[in-house]
Amino acid sequence: MDIHSNLLSILNKLPENVKLIAVSKTKPGKDIMEAYNAGQRIFGENKVQDLVAKQPFLPDDIKWHFIGHMQTNKVKYIAPFISLIQAIDSLKLLREVNKQALKNNRTIDCLLQFHIAEESSKFGLSLSEASDILMSEDYKSIRNVNLVGVMGMSTFTDDMQLVRKEFRTLANIYSQLKNEFFANSDDFREISMGMSGDYHIAIEEGSTMIRIGTSIFGERNK
Ligand SMILES: *Cc1c(COP(=O)(O)O)cnc(C)c1O
Repeated sequence: MDIHSNLLSILNKLPENVKLIAVSKTKPGKDIMEAYNAGQRIFGENKVQDLVAKQPFLPDDIKWHFIGHMQTNKVKYIAPFISLIQAIDSLKLLREVNKQALKNNRTIDCLLQFHIAEESSKFGLSLSEASDILMSEDYKSIRNVNLVGVMGMSTFTDDMQLVRKEFRTLANIYSQLKNEFFANSDDFREISMGMSGDYHIAIEEGSTMIRIGTSIFGERNK
């Protein structure tokens, strides 16, 4: 199948409240344009260097999501144009995004990343770490970051029971934060979970954003 048909076959079955992030990491501009011409507007990249290399040559109405682990010293390169930073995993990073957003006269949407997988290699906060951030004076003084929800990655496994359990954990974390800190925020409403191999389960467990690479663009280029 080609990119166009891959994309449409995913979109056709997507519930209305779920957004598709086309993960274009390692893929050239021509593949991105193929998806763009099929109507896709939200793309995800996980390396700052790759994103800043591609972005100037692609249409302005693309919404770029940063989905990888973000180093604080690199925020400045994407702050002028990034639409959503998916993986905030520390107060330090949040402060830096705020600082760079302010410099660019913008407010940047972000998600808090949670560690829900069994692998220790994956990044992310625990619920108590997130609560500490949200209760801190530092956080309260932040004006140029808009937290719009949570993000997580499941364990890389064939055990779909485990994957489902992890997605359920993330959905519960979302609900607790919503109740405790964001009850009055209409913006805090996203649960970003689900990739090519597990997005059906993620949607059943409440995902509002799926991040799909392989099922749209094929196997990744090395
Ligand atoms: C690569 C990546 C994806 C997409 O993975 P696929 O299995 O190719 O769909 C989703 N989320 C994150 C954070 C990624 O790094």
